[in-house]
Formats: sequence, structure tokens, C-alpha cells
Amino acid sequence: MDRLACYDCGETYAFGDAVRCRCGEPLWFEPDTASFDWSDASGTTGGDATLGRDTLWRYDSVLPAAAPTGFAAAAGGTPLFRAPSIEPTDGPRIHLKVEGVNPTGSFKDRGTAVGVCRADGPIGTVSHGNMALSVAAHAAAADREAVILVAEDTPDSRLAMIAQHDPHLFRVRGDYGRLYRDTVDGDLGAAFLNSDAPLRVAGQKTVAYEICEAFAPDAPDAIVLPVSSGGQASGVWKALRELDAAGLLPSVPRIYLAQAARCDPIARAYRRGRSRVEPVEGEPTAAVSINNADPPSGNRALAAVAETDGGVVSVAEEAMIDETDRLAADAGVSVEPSCAVATAAVRELATAGEFDAADDVAVILTGSGYKYGPSDPDTASVREVDRTDVPAAVRDAVS
Ligand SMILES: *Cc1c(COP(=O)(O)O)cnc(C)c1O
Ligand SMILES: [Zn+2]
Repeated sequence: MDRLACYDCGETYAFGDAVRCRCGEPLWFEPDTASFDWSDASGTTGGDATLGRDTLWRYDSVLPAAAPTGFAAAAGGTPLFRAPSIEPTDGPRIHLKVEGVNPTGSFKDRGTAVGVCRADGPIGTVSHGNMALSVAAHAAAADREAVILVAEDTPDSRLAMIAQHDPHLFRVRGDYGRLYRDTVDGDLGAAFLNSDAPLRVAGQKTVAYEICEAFAPDAPDAIVLPVSSGGQASGVWKALRELDAAGLLPSVPRIYLAQAARCDPIARAYRRGRSRVEPVEGEPTAAVSINNADPPSGNRALAAVAETDGGVVSVAEEAMIDETDRLAADAGVSVEPSCAVATAAVRELATAGEFDAADDVAVILTGSGYKYGPSDPDTASVREVDRTDVPAAVRDAVS
């Protein structure tokens, strides 16, 4: 259970000895899942009977941490439902995996929960978004110290959201992109649960366990998700490899990744047929949570796509904003623009003939829009009305 492996060169390490392989690629936990069966998914709620629902700890037999009680027990177990109202004509069936209902509003809670349960002492992260919020909240719940390193230009509104959980919060001047390396290479006295840390990826694989269990004994034809560092894509791929090794997939779902066109290093490498991702000069985009010009698990994400016969799609800014609106207005799901790239990608792939009406596509909506919603609030449709005119105005509106 505590063996780490490199997907690329196959080198193995003991947990705690390294985070990245000597070859440079990131490591992940390599549990033996050959004898895993869905009946081993124990229906556990993290040993916390008061939760009353299944969470990611249902899969504790393939995780590097024991099931906890309390806040960390509550991560995962998110809804998955079909959303016909946003399906393209003659396109695939779209099933939405709504990660925004996690305790801090994003899938990052899965990795943080496993990380906080396994790592000793203070925990930390290099993030100014969902991961920072998640680590700060989980540390608070576990009565542990948290170290959060945010970029210099992080807006105050975000800082306030993170600061409410009372972490050690540092606004860092200088090359923020290099900080990830600094926390991997140096001993800072805290366990850094960065975007693609092995503990985080182990937690993040559970989203694909949940999706596949929901379809069992079948499997979805494809899983589509937004990608930034490549941590979640790695987790999804890891889960599919483990479930395949266990003989639980009639066919392995294809992994499709979506990026915002304004910052799309993984999509560029894919289009050029490369197996290595080069850093790009990204431009500002409304997809703030996936704006990573030099993704540390980019090569692994590309390998996930290549090995599962999937693809990587760049989504134009306007299509992404339209899709954010469509998900909210037609499916009732408020997401960040960073998530809407995924359903926008399904639309583009359907047009390109990659999906047809017989396909089941699971889309991971990674984070709630109630935090980082539409950057440009659409209040044009708000009507001003006097109280006495409300009855007539309402009748008129719904007629
Ligand atoms: C972190 C994040 C992503 C990207 O995940 P990676 O593991 O960095 O690729 C996508 N969407 C949201 C909402 C996120 O917070
Ligand atoms: Zn290696």
C-alpha cells in the first residue's frame, strides 16, 4: 500500500522517500488492486455513522489512509446525474459529476482529506484558489497547522475566503511558478499537499471509482474533465488502471481533457503529437482555476489521454462563458468557468464526430460557481418592480 511508482520509467520508492521520480516525473501510490471487487467498497462513511451517506472512504481498501471521522470523512460521495437539457442534438448522453457539493466546494477536498489523514504535522499547499481553501479548512477541522503560499496578485476577496480558516497565510513576491519546486525539493517542516502530490492524487482517483461504480457492470464510454496541473487527470487515469487490473471495466473509458484556449500547454502538446508538455506564455482567462502555464503533471496527463485513446480540447473564452451560463440556466448547476470547459469540450467533440448518441459521457464539474461564479455578472434580465405591481408582474413573467 505504501509503494510509490513512476508511471513512466517504472521506478518504485517507499512513501516518504520521494515525491517525484529521479527521471523527473511525478510519483503515485501503487496499491495492488488485482483482487479488488465492488463488494469491497464497504459502504463506509469514514467510520462516522452520523454522516449517513457513502463518501470516498467507501474505497478505503485502495487508499493510503485509514477512514477518519468528522470533516475529512465527508469528502466525496458526490451526485452523478444525466442532464438531457444540455445534451447536443444527436450527441452523447451527458452525466454530470457535481464536485461542487464537496465540503469546501471543489474536488480538491478528496485529495486534501486523504492527505490530512495520512501526513503528520503541519500541512501546506502552493495555491490561491480551491486547493488553498480546502487545505486551510481541513487543517482547521483536524486541529492542525496549515501553511498556504499564495501569489502576490491574489485578490483580497480570495484571501479573505482562505483566511477565515486561520492558516499561516503568505503572500509571495517573486516567481510563483518556481515555488512548487521549492516545496518539493526543500524540507519546509510541513507536508505540502500540492496539486499532484501522491497523497492528493490517491484521494482524487476516488471520483473515477464513484463514476465507474455507478455504471457497473458497464462503464461510461468517456470521462471528460478540465485540466490544469494534471493532478486530477492523473487520479482518474490511476483509477481506471486499477479498476482495469481488477477486471471491473468491460472497456476502459477514454479520458478527454479540456483547457481554456488562453492557457493550454497540454492541448498544444497534444495537437503537435508530442509526449512532453512545454511551458507557454498564458494570457489571463476567466478560467482562473485552470490557468497553469507549466503543469507539473502535464506529461502524465498526456500519457493518460494517449493510453486511453482520448484527446485534449482547447475551448475559446466565449464558448466557455456561454457554457457556464448554459449549465446554470438549463441544468441548474452553477460552476466556475474553469469547469464549463469540460461540457463545452463535449459539444465540440460531438460536432467533430468523436461521440454519438449511443455514448455515455461522464463530465467532472470540478468546482462550485457559488465561489468563483460568472466574472461578469449578468443582471440585464433583472426587472425593477414596485411591491404593489408584483402580482401582475409575476403573472406576466410566467404566462
Ligand atoms: C484545481 C482545479 C482544476 C484543475 O485540477 P488539476 O488537478 O490541477 O489539473 C480544475 N477545476 C477546478 C475547479 C479546480 O479547482
Ligand atoms: Zn521515473
